[in-house]
Amino acid sequence: MTQKIYLFMGIQGSGKGTQAKRVSEKLKLAHISTGDLLRETTGKLAKEISAYIDDGKMVSDELILKILKKRISKADCKNGIILDGYPRNIKQAKTLDSKFDVNKIIKLHISDRESIKRLSGRYTCPKCKAGYNMLTVPKPKKKGICDKCGEKLIQRDDDHKTAIKRRIKDYHKKTKPILAHYKNKIIKINGLQSIEQITKDILSKLK
Ligand code: AMP
Repeated sequence: MTQKIYLFMGIQGSGKGTQAKRVSEKLKLAHISTGDLLRETTGKLAKEISAYIDDGKMVSDELILKILKKRISKADCKNGIILDGYPRNIKQAKTLDSKFDVNKIIKLHISDRESIKRLSGRYTCPKCKAGYNMLTVPKPKKKGICDKCGEKLIQRDDDHKTAIKRRIKDYHKKTKPILAHYKNKIIKINGLQSIEQITKDILSKLK
């Protein structure tokens, strides 16, 4: 296949989801967040999936691949894809390599301390998926309400202390080794800058 494949990586709370959304809109690429795909799953699998997610545990490689394959087959992926949340371990990276030629990896860097702070204050709009943060930025204009669509903001079930700790541990143990695997394709970005500046940096590097 010839479409562009960009991976957005970084510890939880690094802003990869926010940036993947912004950059995909600018470059007219499909944004695929495996976390969102899992959260949107309905039917008999939904209960099993949310038990994993809420505890901060990864779902099986087989299940995530099945869901991802279905999504990638859709027409909006023809131009290219930004993958956010996949691969999350070396086995998933190798599976991806067997099907696609990954172009670049955008690695957003923040410290573990910053990650914990951001996740603890993170709120999302369940309707339009806009992201907010009560402890950092962007804060909603009206407390608890989405600026864009007026919906009541919610906190993710896996943004509690035990799950946050487990997810950060998993990131270091399982996801970080992927960076060495793709070492020649990595673009490092300072994740502490403003949202707008990060998007600018990424776009300038992907040109
Ligand atoms: P995220 O929204 O990327 O933080 O993902 C939320 C949760 O979905 C993770 O903590 C995992 O439980 C699950 N998940 C997302 N992507 C993957 C993946 N590639 N492999 C396994 N589990 C995943």
